[in-house]
Amino acid sequence: MMAKRIVTILPDLSFEEALEVTKIYSIIGKNEAQGIMRTRPFRNPHHTISAVSMAGGGAFPKPGEVSLAHHGVLFLDELPEFKHSSLEVLRGPMEDRKVSISRVQANLTYPCNFMLVASMNPCPCGYFGDKERECKCTPSQIQNYKNRVSGPLLDRIDLHIEVPNVKFKSFENTKEELSCKIKERVEKARKIQQERYAEYGIYTNSELTPKLMEEFCVLSSSSKSILEKYFQKNKLSARSYSKILKIARTIADLEGSENIKDKHILEAIRYRFMDKR
Ligand SMILES: [Zn+2]
Repeated sequence: MMAKRIVTILPDLSFEEALEVTKIYSIIGKNEAQGIMRTRPFRNPHHTISAVSMAGGGAFPKPGEVSLAHHGVLFLDELPEFKHSSLEVLRGPMEDRKVSISRVQANLTYPCNFMLVASMNPCPCGYFGDKERECKCTPSQIQNYKNRVSGPLLDRIDLHIEVPNVKFKSFENTKEELSCKIKERVEKARKIQQERYAEYGIYTNSELTPKLMEEFCVLSSSSKSILEKYFQKNKLSARSYSKILKIARTIADLEGSENIKDKHILEAIRYRFMDKR
């Protein structure tokens, strides 16, 4: 449910973005808007999908799910159930934001600037770590299940969050926040980023290069020591380290804070569940 709602809190498509999305859907004859498509795409292919359908291709090269999710969300439910080949083809497109398909007749390039959202269980039966129900999986079954998602793919995912089972009772008294309210905060943070990076040709914190991070993700000495300790304890990759910095920068922007503070670093670390050893 949360995955499906993500497109509702993202900023509206700009005119250029809307044109790009419309063109892609026109290629496969699935432009249902009868004009320019205004909503961000949400794609959730089934786990039996082939690598070709995921990345694009075929005898008459068509855009794949990664391109149909351009400027929107690609949601992979039950990530470890997907074929290894279909997940590995995501790595290139996630880095390059485009896919090239070579055929004898022509070389085609489709854009694929999508947000990947995925879900998985803690183990094959789904109850590992549950306080109420017993997990019947063996440690090796759990390890095999987790290993189906490769380290390099996981390394490209910015946020990992553990979501415990919700008890029926806790639905009462939940304060709901409407998507349109959250969207306002997201738009405000995006605007801060667009203005900050206007002269650098990027739009968001996630696009920061190591050099730009030195300028825009400056840490106090206390924030640095929090991060260093966490880094050593969990033996993180350099990629994880820079992701934490970018997430902290975004949390600070959502708060309208010019500087990254200790609490932003601590919150960013909480969104890196899979880093923990
Ligand atoms: Zn289990």
